[in-house]
Amino acid sequence: MDQTRLPSYISSENIGPWRIFLHQIEQVAPLLEPALHPWVETLRRPKRSLIVDVPIRLDNGEIAHFEGYRVHHNTSRGPGKGGIRYHQDVTLSEVMALSGWMTIKNAVVNVPFGGAKGGIRVDPRQLSLAELERLTRRYTSEISSMIGPDKDIPAPDMNTNAQVMAWMMDTYSMGEGRTVTGVVTGKPLALGGSLGRQDATGRGVFVTAREAGRRLGVALDGARVVVQGFGNVGEASARMFAQAGAKVIAIQDVSGTVYNPAGLDVAALRSYYAANRSLLGAPGTDALGNEEFWALPCEFLVPAALESQINRYNAGQIDARIVVEGANGPTTPEAEAILAERGITVVPDVLANAGGVTVSYFEWVQDFSSYFWSEDEINARLDRIMTEAFNAIWQLAEERKLSLRTAAFVIGCTRVLAARETRGLYP
Ligand code: GLU
Repeated sequence: MDQTRLPSYISSENIGPWRIFLHQIEQVAPLLEPALHPWVETLRRPKRSLIVDVPIRLDNGEIAHFEGYRVHHNTSRGPGKGGIRYHQDVTLSEVMALSGWMTIKNAVVNVPFGGAKGGIRVDPRQLSLAELERLTRRYTSEISSMIGPDKDIPAPDMNTNAQVMAWMMDTYSMGEGRTVTGVVTGKPLALGGSLGRQDATGRGVFVTAREAGRRLGVALDGARVVVQGFGNVGEASARMFAQAGAKVIAIQDVSGTVYNPAGLDVAALRSYYAANRSLLGAPGTDALGNEEFWALPCEFLVPAALESQINRYNAGQIDARIVVEGANGPTTPEAEAILAERGITVVPDVLANAGGVTVSYFEWVQDFSSYFWSEDEINARLDRIMTEAFNAIWQLAEERKLSLRTAAFVIGCTRVLAARETRGLYP
C-alpha cells in the first residue's frame, strides 16, 4: 500500500494516539473480506469507557483528586485485557487508543481476550508509597464494576508494577469476600504471579527482532542496538540483545542518553539506575544529545517509552535497519511513511510488544488451574507464540505487499471481526 499519501489530518502537528489508531483502521478496512466490512465501525467505537474521580488523602492531611479511566475497546473474543498506566499526561483518548491496540495485539497473538486499558492522570513520582497505595485502592474500587477475572483483567503498564497489581488484587478480593488472584496479571510470584512475566515484553521484543533480523539477513552477533526507555521493556530487551552478542550502544530515558560505541554494560547500568534513578553519569558512558541519539547508525532501534517518539521531526535522520516497537504507538503515520521510503523495516507494536500480554495469559490460565509452570516452559511457549505470529505476519506482508503493521492489522482485525460477525448483533 502507498503509505506516502496520507490524509491531510495526519499532517497536522499533533494528531494524538486515538486519531492514529483510527488512521490504522482506515488503512486496513479495504483489505478485509467484504463480509466483515459492515462490522468495521465496531473498531472505531470503544465498547464502553469509564471516567472516575479518584480522591485520596495525602500524607499531609490534604485531599487531592485525580482523574482515572478504564476503557473496554472490544470484548468480542473474550474478556477485556490490558494494562493500567500512571502518567501525568494520561487522557481518555490516549487510553482509548491503547485499548484499541490491545484488541489488535491480543488477536495477533491469538490469546482469548478483547482489548482494554486503564490509567490515572498522575505523576507517581510526586506521591509517597502510602499515597500510591491509597490511589491504587480507590481507583480499583471505582472501576470494580468493570473488572473481574472473566470480565476484564488489568496488568502493569507504564509506572505500575507487581506491587500495584497486588494492591489491586487485594482491593478487589476484599469487595468479593474471597481471594481472586485471576483479576489482575503481572502480580508478585507469591500471589499467583507467573515466572517470566517481568521480562516477557522485553523477551517478545527480542524474539521478534531476532526473527526480523533472520529474514533480512541482519545478524544479532555484533549488531548495534539503540534503545529508548529503560523501564520494564527497554531494560529487559537491552539485556537480551547484549546476551545474544549484540552491542547496545545507546540508551535514552527521561534523564538523558548514555552512549558507548563499544557497547554498554546493561547489567551495570541497571544497578546504577536502581541506585541513582538516572542513567546519566554511569561509569564507562558518555552523555549524548537528543538529536545525535536519533541519528545513531544502528541495526536495531527499539523505542520502548511513550507514543509518537518517532515523528516527522526525527524520522528523516533515523539510520537504523529495523525499528522494533517495544512501546505502544511510538511511530506516527507520517514517520512510518518516511521510514518506509528509506527502506527501514518497522516491526509494529501490536506484534513486537505482545510478549507481555502473552505471559499475562499464561498467568491467568495458571491462576485458574492453580498449577504453575516452570520458567523454561513459559519462555519456550512465549518464543513459539511470538515466532508463529511473526511468521504469519511476514508471510501475509510478502504475499500482499503490505507493511508489517498493515499485515498485523489484517490478521488481528479479521479475527476480531469474524468473532463479532459470528456472534451477531444483540438483541
Ligand atoms: N501493558 C502491557 C501492554 O501494553 C501488558 C498488558 C497485559 O498484560 O494485559 O501490552
